[in-house]
Amino acid sequence: MSIKKVTQHPSQNENLIFERSQPGRVGYMLPKLDVEEMNIDDLLPADLRRTDDLDGVPEVSEVDVIRHFTRISTWNYSIDLGMYPLGSCTMKYNSRLNEKVARIGGFAGLHPLAPETDTQGALELIYRLQEDLAEITGLPGVSLQPAAGAQGEMTGVMLIRAYLDARDGEASKDRRVMLIPDSAHGTNPASAALAGFTVKTIRSTAEGLTDLDHLKQLCDEGGVAGLMLTNPNTVGIFERNIKVICETIHAAGGLVYMDGANMNALVGVARPGDMGVDVIHLNLHKTFSTPHGGGGPGCGPCCCTAELAPFLPTPRIEKSGDKYVLNYNYPESIGRVKAFYGNFGMMVRALSYIYTHGAEGLREATEAAVLNARYVSKKLAGVYDEPFEADCMHEAIFSHKNQAKLGVVTLDIAKRLIDYGFHPMTVYFPLVVEGAMLIEPTESVGRSDLDAFIEAMIDIDREARETPELVTNAPHTTRIGRIDEAAAARKPVLRWKKEIDSMTHSA
Ligand SMILES: *Cc1c(COP(=O)(O)O)cnc(C)c1O
Repeated sequence: MSIKKVTQHPSQNENLIFERSQPGRVGYMLPKLDVEEMNIDDLLPADLRRTDDLDGVPEVSEVDVIRHFTRISTWNYSIDLGMYPLGSCTMKYNSRLNEKVARIGGFAGLHPLAPETDTQGALELIYRLQEDLAEITGLPGVSLQPAAGAQGEMTGVMLIRAYLDARDGEASKDRRVMLIPDSAHGTNPASAALAGFTVKTIRSTAEGLTDLDHLKQLCDEGGVAGLMLTNPNTVGIFERNIKVICETIHAAGGLVYMDGANMNALVGVARPGDMGVDVIHLNLHKTFSTPHGGGGPGCGPCCCTAELAPFLPTPRIEKSGDKYVLNYNYPESIGRVKAFYGNFGMMVRALSYIYTHGAEGLREATEAAVLNARYVSKKLAGVYDEPFEADCMHEAIFSHKNQAKLGVVTLDIAKRLIDYGFHPMTVYFPLVVEGAMLIEPTESVGRSDLDAFIEAMIDIDREARETPELVTNAPHTTRIGRIDEAAAARKPVLRWKKEIDSMTHSA
């Protein structure tokens, strides 16, 4: 909890707008009354009037307001400012064109209760996006309803559950085991549990891949409903045995769910449907360039085989003759997972991204994303420990092993990167790598920016050896140093109260 007690120097610190208040200051001036002033008692009875003096409402001028908010708006790191190498997040640059298209009045102003006849354009847009995602994944059934990756996961495993119930009847209750690799994103076991499955964990090999013997063994134990697998997996390695993995699960009577958050490594190059995957979720707010971070709206489409399609959420958006329709007539559907049709604005942006790239462009983006990650991987090899030998796909993984010997750990390296002007990489995920640093440059960073990032990482390693306290005390260039992140997340101070000492409320 330490805001540095520097001065009020505007580039170094900024009081809250409440603290800038000065009695009597206003941002307006009214003309003199040109009518007779009325007695307030004649206008509003005393018992209906408030008696306190609006204590705490800031009294500031226009220029106070403008400068205050403009200054603090420059304090945030953003994707428009520089690269965001957060592995697992695919923080690519989002083109302004997508925003422009999403703001077209007919899309932005559409009422969700407007009748089908008045919304043909929007329904066509949803339909076209469904078609494109079906083509990209090789899985024909698509629902755009889920509002996040995690909700797409839950929808996907609910489809598996509904399918098995329909296929096996009563016997389905004996098939409730979901297999999940130890490297999985935490949302995978959470989604499986919500859909009524119990989770068994599959070990990874020293190569960072799913252990096939362990998989076989768990399948032989019986009761397997399915597998949830991320590919490329969360250590950035392509599961080259994916076909065998799918065959093993299918032979055991289960279905394969793929977590598609890492599709930025595959789009236009390889299709999960062709690998034997039954159902997948995508993150439009990662792979398909709709903004994310900060908890805004997302979209986590669920794509599945024709066998699973009858269970998809309704309404389904379909084409009937030359009209687009909302079809509610799927008696086996798992039902709605989101109000109305999902986060439509995200769909507009994603289709805009797909159309501006075209098939060739999407493939090129994938290739550039993988090339960029491999470039980082090769340039930092030897400087930072690489826990796995395999060539990475769209993200490179390192551990702090070499630097930890000197007392410098992943968190220190991440904090020091801030001093070099970079947003830190993902730290301590996945859990299977101790002191993990997961770096995903994405395709939207050029060679010179990549080189600058690599140089910063190399410099930090040198500092760790020569002047370790420079790294362990970083960052040095920010207003706030190392905050108590747990307290900030669990006990955030969200409301200003007069009693609070102006220097103690941090994030
Ligand atoms: C981001 C991510 C998710 C969850 O997606 P949200 O949209 O954040 O819910 C799931 N799995 C993996 C591997 C991810 O990277």
